[in-house]
Amino acid sequence: MRARYISTTLPYVNANPHIGFALELVQADVLARIWRSAGDEVFFNTGTDEHGQKVYDAAKVAGQEPQAYIDHYAAEVQKLNEKEALNLSTDAFVRTSSSAHLQAAQEMWRRCTAEDDIYLKEYEGLYCVGHEAFLTEKDLVDGKCPDHNVEPQVLREKNYFFKFKKYEKSLLDYLQKSRVIVPEWRRQEAINFVKEGLEDFSISREKKRLSWGVPVPGDDSQVMYVWFDALTNYISTLGWPDDEQGNFKKFWEEGITLQVAGKDQVRFQSLMWQAMLLSAGIKNTDSVFYHGFITSDGKKMSKSLGNVISPYDLVKRYGTDATRYMLLRHINPMEDSDVTWERLDEWYTANLTNGLGNLIARVMQMATAHLQDPVKMTQETKSDVDVARYTERFEFNHAMDSIWERIGHDDALIAIKKPFVGVKSDDTSIRDEALLIIKKLVRELDAIATDLESFMPSTSAQIKEAVLIHKKPDNLFPRL
Ligand SMILES: [Zn+2]
Repeated sequence: MRARYISTTLPYVNANPHIGFALELVQADVLARIWRSAGDEVFFNTGTDEHGQKVYDAAKVAGQEPQAYIDHYAAEVQKLNEKEALNLSTDAFVRTSSSAHLQAAQEMWRRCTAEDDIYLKEYEGLYCVGHEAFLTEKDLVDGKCPDHNVEPQVLREKNYFFKFKKYEKSLLDYLQKSRVIVPEWRRQEAINFVKEGLEDFSISREKKRLSWGVPVPGDDSQVMYVWFDALTNYISTLGWPDDEQGNFKKFWEEGITLQVAGKDQVRFQSLMWQAMLLSAGIKNTDSVFYHGFITSDGKKMSKSLGNVISPYDLVKRYGTDATRYMLLRHINPMEDSDVTWERLDEWYTANLTNGLGNLIARVMQMATAHLQDPVKMTQETKSDVDVARYTERFEFNHAMDSIWERIGHDDALIAIKKPFVGVKSDDTSIRDEALLIIKKLVRELDAIATDLESFMPSTSAQIKEAVLIHKKPDNLFPRL
């Protein structure tokens, strides 16, 4: 038995949860479930990032106190975990405004200070509120942040800085191992960032400008830069630094660690966070997987364009497992993907209503009509080894393709052999053969359910139950 740790990034609590974050959650959930079913002990973390200018400003715009504002949105994010939403098997939901997290962030600060990696400097820079970060001239396009389409503010203040540059060599060493970043091209991207030269980055704000943050230990005039604070969540959630439950030792120090993040996070997760860990003398993350973005009809989803597809909208229209299905099979796990309601409807109808749902209904219809007893499972119908192989490589879409290929074969078997005709034959040998085919199909359903267990947990359980009690289940994927 191994101890395995997995965490998503934490979304800002300034908006309702985004479909891209739902993708990240579901990908992480599949891995957590697969490892658990293989006998590993798993700690699956997610949560919300609750400090920083962006959250503070959004609360002000909404006319609310920051605490009331973040409580509302944190609840909206947390609800995604529920069985009726994305049905996630998370072990922890960390909120960066909690006192346990605050203490961990301060301890991280002290450790980095003890290594002489934090210093105070007067600074003037181009600050993008959308990024919560200072940008350099070369990041700008036509004087604007290309990601947020706003001109950065010129900020002049005294900030604490982290000695990022000092860790160039150590980070390049860390990045040598091929598995530290998946996919490979993102690892190259990270290596290139470092090779271009790292600049020390600001890790605090003057409190008079922004009070909504973790106080800097030993300096009342400053609060921590939101990234420095938030990144520490990956270990504060495990009880670091006190580690009274022993989870930090078990899952981080002695376990295998994986973080899941969006493709714009390479600099933060694989460089800044790793440099902080190096400074604090804590083991680096074993692996970070980066997923792509989801656009709608070729455009970035935004309120102003009115093309936002929220995870709650998906669950409402298709149900929990069908939403998980769409995110895992029809969204490329590593590249950008595009969705529209039309295409989502097509996938649902073709592959769930007419595909899996229809196969279950037909097979269980034949089984209950023509077989006296439940079908006994045998060793010969095995689950698909490709599913585990693809999943371990984060190719969730190919794992699902493999399951649907099997569904296609079973449909073909029914169409060619027509067991529903054979069972009515006067010829005993034809009838016996038809009954054998029906039994084989029931075992196929059971094997498909085994393969679907981590991807579509309720569907899997419902199929297994139907086979076990020998009863045709309710329509799992009703027509739209
Ligand atoms: Zn920006």
